Amino acid sequence: MRLENKTALITGAASGIGRETALLFAREGANVVCVDINDAAGQETVQMIQDDGGQVIYVHADISNAADCQNMVQAAEDSFGQLNILFNNAGIMHSADDDAINTEEDVWDLTMAINVKGVYLGCKYGIPALRRAGGGSIINTASFVALVGAATPQLAYTSSKGAVLSMTRELAVIHARENIRVNALCPGPLRTELLMKFLNTEAKKQRRLVHVPMGRFGEAKEMAYAALYLASDESSYVTGTEFMVDGGITAAYVTPE
Ligand code: NAD
Repeated sequence: MRLENKTALITGAASGIGRETALLFAREGANVVCVDINDAAGQETVQMIQDDGGQVIYVHADISNAADCQNMVQAAEDSFGQLNILFNNAGIMHSADDDAINTEEDVWDLTMAINVKGVYLGCKYGIPALRRAGGGSIINTASFVALVGAATPQLAYTSSKGAVLSMTRELAVIHARENIRVNALCPGPLRTELLMKFLNTEAKKQRRLVHVPMGRFGEAKEMAYAALYLASDESSYVTGTEFMVDGGITAAYVTPE
């Protein structure tokens, strides 16, 4: 098993990438702390892990709230004695996110509060815990949209993921000599609720797929396997990266018919 004797905290564990990663990490021997604001779905993830024989707890936390973030890290240490892996994965893509003219300030602020401040707060309270454990791995979920522009606007979301990438890079440099690695996972377009709600017609879905060389949406499970590599000691010399798992979208100029 690749994560034996490690404790992993995963935000956004009630759905999509977070849920699949929680299931996989538990199967690989980790104690898992599932964090979300959707308690019913979060408890479902917990049940799935328990049915599988895994060690898991659920903690309600809004990652844009400092006290909640402090509490989720505390819960990890109280329950399992230490924290080794911090997966800052929760994020939102607001349905009213648009271009600069049409994106309202409240949409911008909410997106930044969750997607950027949430990662910072996770690190603010998580890094001291990783230090106490002698080091660890932080994975921040960014997105391919941080690297390429799209004509279908989602300005707040794209900007927030750019911030996640630069935050990741700097944290990686700051903490490199403390045995704390910090990497960004950059998923391509995935067949999860988050994107399917945004691309809510077949035409919009096909419009996006034109740009993916593989010609399909990615699966949350495919992100979980990438996160597993970054979380495990197999990636011991990897820090500060933008790990693209995107079906080739950021490599493409023209895609096959
Ligand atoms: P999802 O909507 O399936 O899951 C996100 C989870 O985060 C949900 O369970 C939600 O309740 C939780 N969440 C939202 N706000 C929260 C908050 N304030 N505090 C705690 N939890 C909160 O989405 P997903 O596709 O699994 O996305 C996970 C991450 O991957 C996000 O950061 C997203 O931006 C990123 N991403 C997704 C795609 C995609 O195509 N789906 C592509 C690139 C990046």
